[in-house]
Amino acid sequence: MKMNKIKLSEDFRVSRIIHGQWRMGDWKMSAKEILNLTEQVIEFGITTFDNADIYGDYSCEELFGNALYLKKELRKDILIITKCGIQLISNKYPKRKVQHYDYSYKHIIASVESSLKKLHTDYIDLLLLHRPAPFFNPEEVAKAFSILKSNGKVLHFGVSNFNSMQFEMLDAYTDEKLITNQVEISPFCLAHFDNGNIDFFLKKRIIPMAWSPLAGGNFIDPQSEKEIRVVQALKEVAEELNIDSIDKIIYSWLIKHPVSIIPVIGSGKIERVKNAVDALDIDLNMEQWYKIFIASRGEPLP
Ligand code: NAP
Repeated sequence: MKMNKIKLSEDFRVSRIIHGQWRMGDWKMSAKEILNLTEQVIEFGITTFDNADIYGDYSCEELFGNALYLKKELRKDILIITKCGIQLISNKYPKRKVQHYDYSYKHIIASVESSLKKLHTDYIDLLLLHRPAPFFNPEEVAKAFSILKSNGKVLHFGVSNFNSMQFEMLDAYTDEKLITNQVEISPFCLAHFDNGNIDFFLKKRIIPMAWSPLAGGNFIDPQSEKEIRVVQALKEVAEELNIDSIDKIIYSWLIKHPVSIIPVIGSGKIERVKNAVDALDIDLNMEQWYKIFIASRGEPLP
């Protein structure tokens, strides 16, 4: 199936599937190899890439940027998402003793400047605040967003791992509407069905992105009772539909939902990326969708 684009706002459409770059450091690829992989991913129609300042101990933006630098004309064909706000303990910041969050005006601006440099680009398509924070001044955030928007360094803004209250709180301060919330959703993680976020997205017509759609690959070696139940259900559905691998069933389970969940897939192997693309052709019926949901929930629906 042709990869559609999904509209997050009037002037911003992302590919139906996003390629995540958190694990890029583990892929042990040269810039040339990352470029090759990226070009193959783009050929599938996946043109949106998800990074963050902290990925790979602050190295993944640079890994991707160095690959883009080898073929500068690629920049106009892709969308780059990056994030800010988490302050990791890292050898790169030897004075830092406590992992924390920083959403000060100064930090957001500095973080974006650093991302632009590492990514070898003049603009970020979408900047996400990585996690909600107990110490958070929305006026400072709004000021930073407004400056970054007006100087063209960031085109759109969103959040990650926020609940509906946190989302609405920040949205009430910013000139620019927040256009997405990137949260963990998978058959192994139903938290956002339980905490009201999915209903909030539907109500507000917010399209969410789902990180760790395969729960980090856990399905290969399920350990907990829940994982074993979910994998069993996925296998049964795959068999019913004559589908050769259960990751395709997981992606189709996410894609089927009316809230238009966008999977942010984390594989560095092109054949596994293709499985996500193949999933666009799979249409689960309601019983199959619920079978997976119920297996994860661990008890029948009332
Ligand atoms: P994931 O797709 O759930 O897991 C990817 C892992 O599963 C990789 O190690 C991959 O290994 C493995 N895998 C994939 N297909 C497989 C298969 N068929 N068999 C065996 N192993 C398989 O996603 P994720 O990497 O955890 O997260 C995806 C993206 O979400 C990240 O890159 C990042 O962009 C984003 N993210 C965001 C947040 C946030 O807080 N906003 C948090 C976490 C992640 P191979 O590479 O060997 O295929």
